[in-house]
Amino acid sequence: MTTIASNLQAVRAAIASSADTHGRTDRDITLLAVSKSFPADAVRAAYHAGQHRFAENYAQEALDKMTALEDLPLEWHFIGPIQSNKTRAIAEHFAWVHSVDRLKVAERLSAQRPEHLPPLQICLQVNISGEASKSGVTPAQAGMLAMQIAPLPRLTLRGLMAVPAPGPGGDAQRPAFAALRVLRDRLNRQGLQLDTLSMGMSHDYPAAIAEGATMVRIGTAIFGNRTTRDETSNHGIG
Ligand SMILES: *Cc1c(COP(=O)(O)O)cnc(C)c1O
Repeated sequence: MTTIASNLQAVRAAIASSADTHGRTDRDITLLAVSKSFPADAVRAAYHAGQHRFAENYAQEALDKMTALEDLPLEWHFIGPIQSNKTRAIAEHFAWVHSVDRLKVAERLSAQRPEHLPPLQICLQVNISGEASKSGVTPAQAGMLAMQIAPLPRLTLRGLMAVPAPGPGGDAQRPAFAALRVLRDRLNRQGLQLDTLSMGMSHDYPAAIAEGATMVRIGTAIFGNRTTRDETSNHGIG
């Protein structure tokens, strides 16, 4: 077995075990393999170990990998900061976008989504820990933005995404994840239909699952440590 295959097996087992501990089923938790900074061959190895959904932070890097992997039926998720001049490439090549935090960007994605593709699946990125430097709307702004994005014709608003401030890991992250869940539930009471909580990374996904994550975004625990462009906090881009 390759390292990637055995890492995937361990992550899947840990997801199932966390789900079980909290009275959930792993069928309700989608694993996204975050392949940023890793080559197409690593994605291919993960695919052969049963992984079909991948997430990327940089549009051009992702497009290059998609070209190299055209022969595989992969589902691509965009999770990075969105520059306006990249919305067309994102609308044309991804199934999901988790990092929408401005109406302007959502309008462009909707206008540029090709007719032959299903609607682009969208999560709003929420700055749940209130860090000054981070992407994402404030929890207070999320309701208004969600109400504006939900009617856009070529998008389907699915839920919320967050990258909480790094903490010691373990249960220490649970209040931030709980806050995202509470916000999602409040928006649903206001009339939205959000079924997705995209939260949890390599160091904290058990805590995210404990608080209701439906998608976890895992890079390092599957592919190993990144040596270049390791940027999970979205500082000053876009
Ligand atoms: C890089 C990244 C991840 C994956 O992080 P790991 O710690 O490697 O699991 C998840 N989400 C976002 C938004 C990222 O930028």
